[in-house]
Amino acid sequence: MTAGESALVDSHLDVEVELPRSVEEMLLPDVYVGLEIDLLSPGDGIVTDRHHASAERYEADDAMNQIEGQISPFTLSGWLRHGCEQVVQVAGATACHPGEPDGDYMRANVYERDLDSGYHEKGACLDDHDDGCVIYDLFGGFGSQPGKLLRRPVSFSPIRRQVDVLDSEAEAHYRQLSNQVRSRNEEDGGLPLRQADRDVLGNVEGTWLLTLRELKPEFVGLLLEAVSFLDAHSDQFEFQLGGARNFGAGIADVWVINPLYSKREVRRVFNRAQDATAAMAEKDEVWESECRPEFVRALQARTASRDGDLPMSDGESGGESA
Ligand SMILES: [Zn+2]
Repeated sequence: MTAGESALVDSHLDVEVELPRSVEEMLLPDVYVGLEIDLLSPGDGIVTDRHHASAERYEADDAMNQIEGQISPFTLSGWLRHGCEQVVQVAGATACHPGEPDGDYMRANVYERDLDSGYHEKGACLDDHDDGCVIYDLFGGFGSQPGKLLRRPVSFSPIRRQVDVLDSEAEAHYRQLSNQVRSRNEEDGGLPLRQADRDVLGNVEGTWLLTLRELKPEFVGLLLEAVSFLDAHSDQFEFQLGGARNFGAGIADVWVINPLYSKREVRRVFNRAQDATAAMAEKDEVWESECRPEFVRALQARTASRDGDLPMSDGESGGESA
């Protein structure tokens, strides 16, 4: 981290961001996203730290079942980005399309249809402003534009005392599930037709650590609003996280942990033996009434001044209202 990174970057918005505390007193540029997910089945799998015993040799108390590993940031990132796009669209602006116009999409006209429903062509926003739209600015675009948001993997362990929530870690229990699809045809006598293995995590509880490489106030506002949106729509198919959604996987309770907390207070949030302190409650009040609205105002100013100028489709915006 270089000096000065924990000061707000002036993004020349029409509003003045007025905070009761300096950002140096906040956890920023780190943003801790609290996660509670009963069942998660990341589409691109889970990286585990060891080979595990085969299903028939599984014993519940075998130490070999105490598997640690990582949830891929790609699954998490796509989900967060989708939340960010929705926030921008609900505000009446269009979001940068995540894919290249000449991408090899599996369905015909998908890009054109998206452009009619709340998206603009990736990078088209660079014509209006050097930084592009807030989505482009935050997540990056073409090769030379890496984005401003560092998204880490979430490391997990079934053993709570080995979990450090300050380090993007979660308690979670890994299992590999095997599904047998059996023949319905009487002649086959119920023979298995195929087997499908699936990696799942149960009872995920911990943090996902994001770091802003550039601390623009509208970025903070966007992350706050996107995480709220994802939490409010957590059981809606499009906003569940990962795969196996029809089976209730990926319903994520998520929240941004109060950036006014000290690191010790962040740990306390996940300590079942300790309640929040009076100091934490006071910080919650200050954050909700005086800090959060300022960051959201910065986001609104940016979407209104720049992204709002982008041509909207003739159709309805892609925004889903709750
Ligand atoms: Zn854009």
